[in-house]
Amino acid sequence: MAFDAIVVGGGLLGTATAYHLTAAGARTLLVDRADVGRATDAGAGILSPETNSRDPDAWFRLASDAVEDYPALIERLSEEQSGDTGYARCGKLVVAASDDEIESFERARRIIGERQRSRGRPTREDLHEVSPAEARELFPPLARVHGAIYSRVAARVDGRLLNRALRTAAGARALVVRDGSVERLVRDGDRVSGVVVGGETIAAGGVAIAGGAWTEAFGRQLGVAIPVAPQRGQIIHLGLRATDTSRWPMVSAFHHHYLVAWPDSRVAAGATRETGSGFAPHTTSAGVREVLDEALRVAPGLAGAEIREIRVGLRPLTSDTLPVLGPVPGVSGVFLVTGHGPTGLTLGPYSAKLVAGQMLGKPPASDLSPFSIARFGV
Ligand SMILES: Cc1cc2nc3c(=O)[nH]c(=O)nc-3n(C[C@H](O)[C@H](O)[C@H](O)COP(=O)(O)OP(=O)(O)OC[C@H]3O[C@@H](n4cnc5c(N)ncnc54)[C@H](O)[C@@H]3O)c2cc1C
Repeated sequence: MAFDAIVVGGGLLGTATAYHLTAAGARTLLVDRADVGRATDAGAGILSPETNSRDPDAWFRLASDAVEDYPALIERLSEEQSGDTGYARCGKLVVAASDDEIESFERARRIIGERQRSRGRPTREDLHEVSPAEARELFPPLARVHGAIYSRVAARVDGRLLNRALRTAAGARALVVRDGSVERLVRDGDRVSGVVVGGETIAAGGVAIAGGAWTEAFGRQLGVAIPVAPQRGQIIHLGLRATDTSRWPMVSAFHHHYLVAWPDSRVAAGATRETGSGFAPHTTSAGVREVLDEALRVAPGLAGAEIREIRVGLRPLTSDTLPVLGPVPGVSGVFLVTGHGPTGLTLGPYSAKLVAGQMLGKPPASDLSPFSIARFGV
């Protein structure tokens, strides 16, 4: 069978690309090796660009468009299949929990406020400062913080469930899924015309590469460097027996860690950012200690929680932390949709929609030029 499109990789980016391709009627094959350490299976699920003060404006614009696109996608998925996605607007607190965070908090307050004013949303009602006491009322285990900003519109999603829902919906539209490894791309001169899986050549009109942290291998075949490397993240799911956590907001502070509450008396405490970890998706004693120390620094009220599960994922991190989206200069028939690092659940479905559109000849609705592979000097 010949395909209009082949997608390499079945994490959120690949599955969402396949979802949008099949929605447009393209005959699509998804090939996934399901590596241990798939980032999508470990992701915390925070969707909140309006409280981000770390990433540059190009990221902020794409992420803001991405989260505005989420509710329509979730609604559509709920009509197309019966699985939950864990998506909810649960709110988020950004706090300075100790003296050394006050300067970072002030900087965040300035950036968040400037972006709120320049975009004209969220409204003041949806994004504003709250007192330390109000913050604690919202998230009872919280430390006595120095300051807090509260976003009412911040959302969360369960990466595993979303990935499954997208795959089920695309499957109902005849997506073909193959478990296996794409060994190489097929090149006819300057054109990619298919892939080789298990020694078999499969032809397609276009190939999308969404290989997560494993994407770099394809750079060699395309004659370009794709500077994506694994960054290990360890995240600990804590159980709070008989506690109603369903209305608790997410919390982040300024040592790069955060807490995400889920309705089943559970709080996910994340996460390590182990740049240079290599392909080693296992827990470490230092990583577990770091995550627990940080969780209890920000929320000492979690000290009695049980450890339910530890998840480990390899974030696909680029050398400049921005994703890589779109065609490869000088090679037709191939598109990259990778390198989303710590924010792939936020950007993922929207990045995938734009790249799927490009594969079908549609100009993207958001500016993708900052995310071209060409920025690395191809
Ligand atoms: C601990 C942690 C917390 C996170 N928290 C958040 C968060 O709060 N908010 C947020 O927005 N993001 C978060 N992220 C980031 C997000 O999870 C990732 O950016 C995103 O899931 C990446 O998806 P992906 O599809 O690119 O990669 P992956 O999910 O890693 O999937 C890549 C897939 O490609 C397959 N593959 C690779 N090569 C081949 C090949 N040759 N042939 C076939 N298949 C292949 C792999 O086997 C794998 O299944 C977090 C990540 C981690 C690890």
